[in-house]
Order: sequence, then structure tokens, then C-alpha cells
Amino acid sequence: MKHHHKPSEEEHSTVPVRQRIIIASNNEGKIREFRQLLRPFGFEAVSMREAGYTKEIIEDGETFEENAHIKARAIFEALRLPTIADDSGLEIDFLDGAPGVYSARYAGEGATDKERCEKVLEEMHGVARPLRDARFVCSIYFIYDEDSEYSVNGTVEGYIGDEMTGKNGFGYDPIFMIDDNESMATIDDDEKNRISHRARAFEKLSVILKEKFLDADK
Ligand code: IMP
Repeated sequence: MKHHHKPSEEEHSTVPVRQRIIIASNNEGKIREFRQLLRPFGFEAVSMREAGYTKEIIEDGETFEENAHIKARAIFEALRLPTIADDSGLEIDFLDGAPGVYSARYAGEGATDKERCEKVLEEMHGVARPLRDARFVCSIYFIYDEDSEYSVNGTVEGYIGDEMTGKNGFGYDPIFMIDDNESMATIDDDEKNRISHRARAFEKLSVILKEKFLDADK
């Protein structure tokens, strides 16, 4: 079975350089995840700081997708290199989708994850189970060049618990119930990485990358 594309003489004549993709984040965890995702496609994930982009980007979109697009565009315009941005957060039906795009800033700029969870628990106090439905959403925006842009979304459904449960994960994980006694913070990283909104958006991006960049054998 033929697995690999055999490079032509021409391709041999230059030192192979991995194509860099800028990740519109300085969050080490995210960069690490993107690095793993992109490596099989021959891409090298580079953080925006490593690429020399230090300006602040105003994320004033009304949706996760808009914010991911704004971030990717700003960096692509400045560096002219393929760029991936993501935006994510928690949507609660009873709160009309809040905290939504404000997930990171909910409860104020300097607040902790615990304070943000407590604020949500307070707002949901006494609200009956059917109205506690919520989802994590992750939107990824990829600009390869001026003619190719891709947007994918991933979600995971759950509901807001009555209290914080579990020590794993981060952010709103301890109040996000995926089952009666299980929150996103009681499961381990591996399991979260199988079911999370980010994992699902990643899967969709992988499908696109496979179609577009692993077509050498076709
Ligand atoms: P972002 O870095 O702009 O995407 O901010 C996302 C915010 O949404 C984080 O600060 C968290 O509060 C929340 N969030 C996103 N993903 C998760 C998750 O997997 N678990 C818990 N909270 C999350």
C-alpha cells in the first residue's frame, strides 16, 4: 500500500521547511493542542508572540465565530502567514446564552475561575433542571491564504449543576454536568479531549486539512 507522496527531484532541491501556521493565542495549553493537531499535516504551530505579533486584538464580535474571525484576520493582515484562531465559552439557555462571548470576562476582568462559577451558580439558584441546559462552544477560524478561509464549530451539551463538582479541567468545568454525578471536572483530560467542544471543532478542522493538504496521493 502506498502511504507516502514521493517527492519529485525539484522538491528535493530545496531544504524542506515546515510551513508555519500562526496560532492566534499565547495560551500554552492551546498552542500545545494545536501543535499536535497540525504536525501530521506538516505544519508547524507557532504562537503569535513567537511570530512577533504583540498588539492587542479587540474581540468585539457578537458570536464566537465572529471573534475567532476577527483574531485570525488581524494576524493574517499583519503577518501574511496562515493563521488559526479560536474562541470558546459557555452558553446557558436560561440566561439567554450568557456568559457566551463574555465567558472569560464574566464576573469582571481580574476574577478567578471559581468566582465566575460562583456567579453563574448564584444566577441559576432555584432554577429547575429542565431550564439548566447549557453547552460549551468552540469556534475555530483558519485563514490559509486570501482565497481560502475555513470556519468550524464544535459543541458539547450538558447542564448547570447546583454546586461545583470535581477538580480537573479549568474554567466552568466544575459546574458543567455531563451526567447526573459527572461534571466536566470529574473526568480526566483524556476523556475531556475526546468529548469536548474543542475536540469536536478540531475533528472538523482535521477533515478540512486532510482534504486540502493530504491530497498528494490522489
Ligand atoms: P477564550 O480563551 O477567549 O476562548 O475564553 C474562553 C473562556 O470560556 C475561558 O476563559 C473559560 O472561562 C471558558 N471556557 C472555554 N472552554 C472551556 C472549557 O473547556 N471548560 C471550561 N471553561 C471553558
